[in-house]
Amino acid sequence: MKFTILTLFPEIVSAFFNASIMAKAVDRGLITYEFVNIRDFAFDKHKTCDDVTYGGGAGMLMLPEPLACALDSVDAKYKHVVFPSPSGRTFTQDDAIRLAKKDEIVLLCGRYEGVDQRIIDEYVDEEVSVGDYVLSSGEVASLVVVDAVYRLVEGVISSSSLENESFVDYLLEYPQYTKPAVFRGRCVPEVLLSGHHANIEKWRHRKRIEKTYTNRPDLIEKSRKSDAWTRENDMILEEFINERDY
Ligand code: SAM
Repeated sequence: MKFTILTLFPEIVSAFFNASIMAKAVDRGLITYEFVNIRDFAFDKHKTCDDVTYGGGAGMLMLPEPLACALDSVDAKYKHVVFPSPSGRTFTQDDAIRLAKKDEIVLLCGRYEGVDQRIIDEYVDEEVSVGDYVLSSGEVASLVVVDAVYRLVEGVISSSSLENESFVDYLLEYPQYTKPAVFRGRCVPEVLLSGHHANIEKWRHRKRIEKTYTNRPDLIEKSRKSDAWTRENDMILEEFINERDY
């Protein structure tokens, strides 16, 4: 899979592609990438890429011409273009799964107050928000999308590592522990030391439901509506609510 990233700051995104699991995936040929510096497509001698907004207001906007030329240089009209933006639809794990099946994604990194709407209208296939807050740059947001997507590309990490992660069946992951068994007086739950696999699985399942209900009740509602939700889940949840409220 290929990630093509259009940015005013390639040095911010390049670090991610040169470290850890991503660097290995690139070495193994599972992931390829291309960075396009939007400034290379500026028209004037100052390499200007932003200007004031029509209608007034604070802040600058990315100019459409350099952006259009940068996008044309990678044939973006024939590719899947993602524009991270706070006013986009919230990016979810389901989106990451969907995007991981594409051969190439083009990511457009906004700066300043964002980009001229005509660029979005002409080139962008989807506008996604990485959360309900405003970042100063699209580079960080693009890397969020890249990171969520590339790890799902076949062969990048073992499929068993993806099996029990958060958001599978809309539930969050259970709490996890490593050595030592007692850390500053805090013990690892006994069931995890028992070696009894069925009980461990049961405990983990219960904890997923409890944690999701506590931290993300909205996801419990989604899970309830899915085929994965069982009668047993209802019972676990009822017990947890009763214990908590007691
Ligand atoms: N004026 C914009 C607004 O109020 O919606 C904010 C622009 S922000 C300072 C600059 C760039 O950062 C955006 O164009 C976008 O590319 C990126 N960005 C900021 N917050 C983001 C978010 N929550 N999700 C995705 N991208 C974001």
